[in-house]
Amino acid sequence: MAIPRFKTILYATDLGKNMRPVFRHAVSVAEQYRAKIIMLHVAQPLGATGKAALELYSPKKVKSLEHDAIKEILDKMQKRLGKFQRDELGKDSTLVAKVVAVVGDPAEKIWKFAASEDVDLIVVGSHTGGGFGSGFLGSTARKLINISDRPVLVVPVKK
Ligand code: AMP
Repeated sequence: MAIPRFKTILYATDLGKNMRPVFRHAVSVAEQYRAKIIMLHVAQPLGATGKAALELYSPKKVKSLEHDAIKEILDKMQKRLGKFQRDELGKDSTLVAKVVAVVGDPAEKIWKFAASEDVDLIVVGSHTGGGFGSGFLGSTARKLINISDRPVLVVPVKK
């Protein structure tokens, strides 16, 4: 049987306060295996309230405003991820191959993105620390473990 190798590692982040220790685990594995890292953030789509606010502002333009709003959010996310990568690794590091932000349900988007990039390992934190949920795993981590057909490394983070 062929021994699995980690060539591409997907590091998914909510951009919250727990991202550094989780990212360092992704870096550690990437360095051991000479793998590349892809950084992914999933932005939440505009909810009913956001859409209603846009409709009030300009009912006819709601579609293009929504599109522009999402594009702006994604541009900002990409810049934040890029800065985080430079802060952590220095500007000359080639460990991170790609920085991506998409819109949707986090666990589903992470899973689909992992398939489309054919990644060998997904690295996430155990939870974002938000909410009142009990238990060790947050909802994204739990759902991802349930649906993923690829290995998932869950890094414990403090609540
Ligand atoms: P949660 O289960 O939502 O508390 O989050 C657990 C982990 O899933 C986080 O530490 C991140 O690694 C990942 N995650 C959660 N939300 C997102 C998101 N919006 N985009 C990318 N990764 C996320």
